[in-house]
Formats: sequence, C-alpha cells, structure tokens
Amino acid sequence: MEVPKPVLAIVGRPNVGKSTIFNRLVGERIAIVEDKPGVTRDRIYSSSEWLNREFHVIDTGGIEINDEPLMVQMRYQAELAIEEADVICFVVNGREGVTGADEEVAQLLFRSKKPIVLGVNKMDDPSLHDRLYEFYSLGIGDPIPISGSHGIGLGDLLDKVVEHFPVDEGEEYDDDTIRISLIGRPNVGKSSLVNAILGEERVIVSDIPGTTRDAIDTPFTRDGQDYVVIDTAGMRKKGKVYETTEKYSVLRALKAIERSDVVLMVINGEEGLIEQDKKIAGYAHEAGRAVILVVNKWDVVEKDDKTMQKYEEKLREELLYLTYAPILFLSAKTKRRLHHLLPLVQEVSENHNLRVPTHVLNDVIVDAVTMTPTPTDHGGKRLRINYATQVSVAPPTFVLFVNDPELLHFSYRRYLENNIRKTFNFKGTPIRILARKKN
Ligand code: GDP
Ligand code: GDP
Repeated sequence: MEVPKPVLAIVGRPNVGKSTIFNRLVGERIAIVEDKPGVTRDRIYSSSEWLNREFHVIDTGGIEINDEPLMVQMRYQAELAIEEADVICFVVNGREGVTGADEEVAQLLFRSKKPIVLGVNKMDDPSLHDRLYEFYSLGIGDPIPISGSHGIGLGDLLDKVVEHFPVDEGEEYDDDTIRISLIGRPNVGKSSLVNAILGEERVIVSDIPGTTRDAIDTPFTRDGQDYVVIDTAGMRKKGKVYETTEKYSVLRALKAIERSDVVLMVINGEEGLIEQDKKIAGYAHEAGRAVILVVNKWDVVEKDDKTMQKYEEKLREELLYLTYAPILFLSAKTKRRLHHLLPLVQEVSENHNLRVPTHVLNDVIVDAVTMTPTPTDHGGKRLRINYATQVSVAPPTFVLFVNDPELLHFSYRRYLENNIRKTFNFKGTPIRILARKKN
C-alpha cells in the first residue's frame, strides 16, 4: 500500500516566481494529465519527484481570498502552508532585495517551526550572486540562488527540501484495510454519513488513533473487515478563513483521494453536481481510485417510480468517464439503504484488486477482435494485438503487446475495455489499457 507522500508548499509575495517554479517542478505531469479530454487538474496542487522521492507541491499563490489586502492574503497563504505542508519553500526576489512583506512572512513561517528552505529567485546569472547575502537577515538559514524561468539551482533547492522530508514511517495501515474518503461540497452530508456508518450495528470503532501522520482518520471494523475513513475538508472545520475558499477544499479533497482506496463521491439528492464536483470526480478517476456515487438526502426528494432512474441518467450524462461507478441512493438521516454502503465498498475494493487469468483475458481480446476488426491508419497499416497481460492492480492495468502502439486509438481502446468489463466484474474501478510495441 502507498505511503502518504510528503507535501512541499511554495510561499512568497506575488511576482517572485512561485508559479514559474511550481510549473518547473510539476510541469511534465500536468502536460500528461491535460492531454485527457474532460479531465483537468487543479493548477495549484500536483505531484513531483526528486531523488526517487515522490512528493506533492502546493502553489499557495493560487489561493486567493477575495478582496483582502496583500498582507492579509499572504498571511492566509502562509497559514495554509504551515497547516498542510511538511516543508515550506519560501521564495523571494533576489533582484529586489529583502522587502518588509518578506520579513513579515518570514516571521510567520519561522514561528511555525516547520522546516523552511529559502529560494532566492531570478538569479539568472552568477554575477547576481553577491545579492544573496542580505537574505541571511531573514533568519531562515542559507539562501539558495535559483532561477525559475531558466531552471537554474532547482536541484540544489530540492536536495535541501528532500533532506527535511519526514523519514518514511512505513505503511500507514495494514494492507487489508480499506481506506475510504468522502468527497463532496459542504453540507451534502459527509459527516452525517460517517456518523451514521459508525453508529451502525456491528461496527466497532477503534479508539487507537490509527496513524502516525494524521490522527483525524477514523479506523473501524465491520464483519471482520478493517476500514479507515480518511479525513477530508469539511469534516474537520477549524474556522480558518482560507477554509472557505474553493481552491482549498479542492486541495483537501485531492489529498484525501490520494490516500484512499475507495472514494465516495457524496451528492445532495435535492441538488445535483456543480463544476467543482466534476473536477474532483475526474481527479479520483485519473488517480485510479475505486469510486462510488452516493446520492444522499434521498429522504427529502419527492419521488415517483421514475425519479431514481431519471436522476441516474442525468448523473451518468454529467460524469461520462465514471460509467463504472455504482450509484447508491440513501439517507444518512433515516439510514434508509445505508446498510448497502459498506458491502458495496468492500465489493468495489475487491474489484479494484482483481487479477484475472491471462488465458481468459486473451480469449476476450481474440473474441473482441473477431467481432470488430482492429483499426488501420491512413496508409492501411492495421493494429495487430499479439498478446495481453495484466501487469498490476488498484487499478487493474493491462498491457497489450502490439505491432504499433500508435494504432490503438481511443475508440478501440474503449471497445476493448467494454469487452473486458463484460467478462470480469470491474464494477466501481477504473481499468487501464496500455499498448507496448512487440512484433
Ligand atoms: P508568482 O506571482 O510568485 O507566482 O510569480 P510568477 O511565477 O507568475 O512570476 C512573475 C514574473 O516573474 C513572471 O513574469 C515570470 O516570468 C518572472 N520570473 C519568474 N522566475 C523568474 C526568474 O528566475 N528570472 C526572471 N528574470 N524572471 C522570472
Ligand atoms: P457535510 O458538510 O458534507 O459534512 O454535511 P453534514 O453532515 O454536516 O450535513 C449537512 C446538513 O445536512 C445537516 O444539517 C444534516 O443534518 C443534513 N443531512 C445530512 N444527511 C442528511 C439526509 O440524509 N437527509 C436529510 N434530510 N438531511 C441530511
């Protein structure tokens, strides 16, 4: 199971180069992600890697709190970094020297006792390096000269950052524990749902704080199966101003998704989806997590015998890429149909970890190719699939060995996916189909 990745937050005044640096650190990955139609990732939170250590990066400059004055904005951004990050990268502008705002931010950060790395940006050539020394006055330690736009010095900066990351504490939870996150806007009923689950018969809530990194997770056991509810925004409100911003709740949701196996996308049955819900659902899909769509507050919806079906059709239209996600209508308040939830979580988790027999997989592919021949390119060259194999689980991932990977288009991939899904139970889990060249 995955260990939670450490988080690096980038803090600093506007225009010092935070987003330039952020893009340098995560750039390649964003490009890959945005290649997929209909799925976008939030620009302020992404992952990166240095010296084989994977980590997340937050660009706090992307979190704006309406019309607040500059210094107030910066205070919020610094607070957020202190709260969310393992290491903070404080960026200043080497060409402007130390400003009053830099000093104020430095004080805030310093009081937090979080490790801070000081990046002096816009040091595009070594002749500027004697300006470095004045930044010692910030009291944060050695200033590291960098140039975000030229990509200079970032390696040195990252060396320092990685040094400060917490030591790998090993796996957070037992491999058999199903990690659940609940995602959805404020007031859809996430906390009520968790309380309802924990109040169910046969649920034993563990009183040992389950984790070393985040004691707000809630571990419990039901019918011999261990679960843990991963903490998300809205479930631990602290009354910080930045918590009301959309970007922040997206950020918390993304973090929770990363740490979970099964994502419960909670929707208020009286309302529907908004753009933000779709964005977050898209991220869960992209991250390869199992997903269940939970339509809550079904008790207050006026219904006839068609209501559920109509609601489902609308939801499917809005979340086209999540066709595999089961939909559960329930009420956290009356507990109607609540008893279906954990068995469904268990089922999709099993599917998420399903390994299929290679010979059956290859039979499915051969049959599919017989029914609908593989595509050809403009020159008449035809895709030939020699062999298929499953290379991993969570999510189940298949590799097709083919004559030319370029020939496997989106629509044929989708066709193969549908055929695989007809044979195996992959309800609730995305599956991935990759093509590798092999004649
Ligand atoms: P942010 O507001 O802190 O996120 O700053 P941006 O990343 O948007 O950068 C502000 C401006 O500084 C942009 O015009 C960047 O092109 C420029 N910039 C960023 N990094 C460097 C650098 O290393 N050298 C120079 N000369 N300009 C930079
Ligand atoms: P969260 O912000 O997503 O955690 O939402 P809460 O769990 O705090 O619930 C928001 C409001 O919706 C509260 O007033 C709950 O009592 C109410 N609520 C939650 N679930 C249901 C439900 O199934 N039916 C009804 N009628 N109200 C609900």
